[in-house]
Amino acid sequence: MTALVEAAAATDTLIELVAVKKHYRFGESLVAALDGVDLKVTRGSFLGVIGRSGSGKSTFLNIVGGLDRPSEGTVLIEGQPLMARTSDALAAYRRAVIGFVFQSFNLVPHLTALENVALPLALAGVGLFERRRRAQELLEKVGLGKRTGHRPTELSGGERQRVAIARALANSPKLLLCDEPTGNLDSRTAEEIMGMLAQLHAKDGATVVLVTHDRERAERYCERLVTLEDGRVKDDRRSVPPALAIPTLGQEPPAQAPAEGGK
Ligand code: ADP
Ligand code: MG
Repeated sequence: MTALVEAAAATDTLIELVAVKKHYRFGESLVAALDGVDLKVTRGSFLGVIGRSGSGKSTFLNIVGGLDRPSEGTVLIEGQPLMARTSDALAAYRRAVIGFVFQSFNLVPHLTALENVALPLALAGVGLFERRRRAQELLEKVGLGKRTGHRPTELSGGERQRVAIARALANSPKLLLCDEPTGNLDSRTAEEIMGMLAQLHAKDGATVVLVTHDRERAERYCERLVTLEDGRVKDDRRSVPPALAIPTLGQEPPAQAPAEGGK
């Protein structure tokens, strides 16, 4: 490939899955959690992956994020096969390139919000002063500048998820992977978190892959919706989210879902 072609290819597709299968042995039988998935994810896009419980969504996300290895097939990130790396190289790559947000927040309970956000920076070798500065800045970005000393039990569900998003952003990831990030939140807080992800995508140009069983909410926020069924891509369509009144990060969201036609 010439440098030019390489550059063009690199700008377009961030993730590519080629014939990806994942089988789990369950007693005597083999469960196909993913059963031949081909998919390209464009850089800077906001992709929703929807489907019923058990359709393979978490398996998909874990494989894209290098937390799990496919049984067959290939995952390419920026054209490079993810699984060709050793476990250590894969872990380092994950830390540098990917931010994860989970349904259950996965914060370290005995650490403050600031320490939780600073943790991935410590793992990346950033010095104490700089990581505290950056963690403070990230918490301000998600509207928690006044909660930096709180531990997870001293925060609401929505605040915990905001800390988790700040932590996921700590290493300026190219890719934000979210597994049911609103699954443990009430409807209003869920809107707030979705608005935050939408803004990270729209204003910061982040590539976001969001897994959810909540089709209705995904339709309102994501640009593209892939439906999984029994480990296969059942549907893949562009979604046209109504013009969103995307709140500025850290500000109070509107009480209601934004109306169509809003700016
Ligand atoms: P979803 O996130 O859409 O609910 P999952 O990706 O978690 O679905 O699971 C897809 C299928 O794979 C389910 O049938 C599930 O029971 C099965 N599965 C997931 N993880 C394992 C595992 N570690 N061992 C055995 N089966 C699994
Ligand atoms: Mg799941």
